[in-house]
Amino acid sequence: MSFAKYKKLIEEGDTVILYLSFNNLIPITVKSGQTHQNKYGALKHSEMIGVAYGSKINLKKGYVYVLHPTPELWTQTVPHRTQILYTTDISMILTQLDLRPGSVVVESGTGSGSLSHSLIKAVMPTGHLHTFEFHKERAGQAAEEFKAHGLSDYVTAIHRDVCGEGFQLDHVADAVFLDLPSPWECIASAKQALKKEGGRLCNFSPCIEQVQKACEALSEHGFKDLTTLECLLRNFAVRSVKLPLADLGQSELETPDSAECVSNKVKVSKMDHSMDKESGVKEVAQPFKKVPKCDLIGKMTEKDFVFQTGAPPVNTQGHTGFLTFATLYPS
Ligand code: SAH
Repeated sequence: MSFAKYKKLIEEGDTVILYLSFNNLIPITVKSGQTHQNKYGALKHSEMIGVAYGSKINLKKGYVYVLHPTPELWTQTVPHRTQILYTTDISMILTQLDLRPGSVVVESGTGSGSLSHSLIKAVMPTGHLHTFEFHKERAGQAAEEFKAHGLSDYVTAIHRDVCGEGFQLDHVADAVFLDLPSPWECIASAKQALKKEGGRLCNFSPCIEQVQKACEALSEHGFKDLTTLECLLRNFAVRSVKLPLADLGQSELETPDSAECVSNKVKVSKMDHSMDKESGVKEVAQPFKKVPKCDLIGKMTEKDFVFQTGAPPVNTQGHTGFLTFATLYPS
């Protein structure tokens, strides 16, 4: 099994992402003789061997899906040895650093390797990631994971304090990514690592004071186009909702052509309603009939009006960190 290349059937030693539900995914390494206990029952690892990735496996009290790992699924399931970066920030980083197959990228610290997996996937098969971590065990665990995930050819994992000892790379990188408590201490070394043609740098810091110090150091070392932003994910659930319809006495008025309305034949008041926990919006569980053009509003006998809307969730993920991007132009 490799994160680098999809394959069809599960084999001994593979990393499989067990999908129990949308928010409950578990990574397991397949070892025949072992059993994975979950809320749907006992899953013998041997039952997965020879099964196609993506299959549904029935258990005593339900079922699970066995998924092929991807960097995105890994970010959702990675054992946390540190705070990690999530897909919302990661996608912005990959885009803003202009990463593509063939790019060479430098990262510190490696942490739990959540971002590293996406960086590798973005630059492979011809690019390379140099990732640095000063915590010995973490550096070792990350290196082992890269190997187990079939990524060793695309990454060099180094145990080093990059603030004290620098990256020790001369003009090889297209991009540098920093997720460190004191990033300003290694900006000079990051500059040295970037190619003479220049490149992009991204710094991730949770506090604005860190951002200020990092920006000062970046400016001092000749980086330009400094931009700091924060990525906040906002999901919308598309739901059928009902609202009371005010009687404005405009029974003969037509709505615009684009409006989608509900036929007055639908018995709205007899429909089954339930509260959606995530959005806090009342959902009409039973499908309703739509007509393309509506001149029915005024003729509706019911007091409610049913329509489709995008409802934000009650709880939205908050601040993770500030992303500062900068460009180093050719010297
Ligand atoms: N981006 C990572 C998480 C990084 S957490 C992820 O997505 O998984 C920050 C890491 O930086 C920690 O593991 C910490 O040990 C490491 N670190 C802190 N200072 C460092 C330094 N001077 N040199 C190298 N690594 C450092």
